[in-house]
Amino acid sequence: MKAILIEKAEDTQAVSLTDVAEDQLPEGDVLVEVAYSTLNYKDALAITGKAPVVRRFPMVPGIDFTGTVAESRHADFKPGDRVILNGWGVGETHWGGLAERARVRGDWLVPLPASLDLRQAAAIGTAGYTAMLCVLALERHGVRPGDGEIVVSGAAGGVGSVAVALLAAQGYEVAAVTGRAAEADYLRGLGAASVIDRSELTGKVRPLGRERWAGGIDVAGSTVLANMLSMMKYRGVVAACGLAAGMDLPASVAPFILRGVTLAGVDSVMCPKPDRLAAWARLARDLDLAKLEEMTTELAFAEVIDTAPKFLDGAVRGRIVIPVT
Ligand code: NDP
Repeated sequence: MKAILIEKAEDTQAVSLTDVAEDQLPEGDVLVEVAYSTLNYKDALAITGKAPVVRRFPMVPGIDFTGTVAESRHADFKPGDRVILNGWGVGETHWGGLAERARVRGDWLVPLPASLDLRQAAAIGTAGYTAMLCVLALERHGVRPGDGEIVVSGAAGGVGSVAVALLAAQGYEVAAVTGRAAEADYLRGLGAASVIDRSELTGKVRPLGRERWAGGIDVAGSTVLANMLSMMKYRGVVAACGLAAGMDLPASVAPFILRGVTLAGVDSVMCPKPDRLAAWARLARDLDLAKLEEMTTELAFAEVIDTAPKFLDGAVRGRIVIPVT
């Protein structure tokens, strides 16, 4: 089977699109014929080796995929079932989706919702499913359309694009933060009410700024998240899921203790199954599929390795799907 393989040699890693024997696939009770994988930020880190995402070598990257069950010893799945996989260490500690086949634990799989096809579910991917987890976190903490604007950082990226479309579909007024002014029309097309230059969130962090937003979804971390927190309205809520700007958080406690702001952490990798099923059900119900198509680019399997560095430069818009077979 064709697969991207990351091999480690001393301090460097070698990445190639190569042939791998199927009997080298890791343990698991379900064998999936992969239809689509995708390129997420974490995949780009793994393929370039820019961060220690891969914990075991050799590794097939790809933190998500969609496909059809070929063999199953798991009670919930039979050959022919169409499935989605996101996270669980796949592409990090367990061979992932950038291969023609994947063997995984059936417990990790989510059945494809009836209203989506395998390409659409891949276009949503881990980025889109994480955006939905962020929206659900805002809802869980009481944010409702009508409370005020919701700010989304990294809006032209994968998580950000899906978050903008989802929030707009729910009737929220979305303020999309981007470092790419040229993407303003794209973001308005997804439903953003306003587009904010990233520089408004990268300056010196004050303990409290002007009260601007009722909620936020942040993919950046660092100064961007700290500034976002300082500009939340009273009892605002920020769902934080990313580190595109950095791992640090140069914030003060002022927004928490003086404005009752909530910082809600969002993790998609080890997220329990009931929450995944709920997120995918909402994605199937709420996401405008025409907007999903607008934010999706298809990339040939053979081009993945060369595209990964560009991805980390923030030069890629929306979501990338990779037809694998
Ligand atoms: P993308 O690369 O598609 O999007 C990231 C976007 O962030 C870029 O497009 C850019 O948007 C913006 N950005 C880039 N650099 C900076 C910077 N220095 N400061 C502020 N903004 C920046 O990645 P994904 O959408 O796939 O992932 C986004 C983040 O979310 C990543 O950090 C990823 O690791 C994380 N993530 C976390 C998950 C979890 O489970 N917690 C799951 C999925 C993703 P623009 O040009 O519009 O400003």
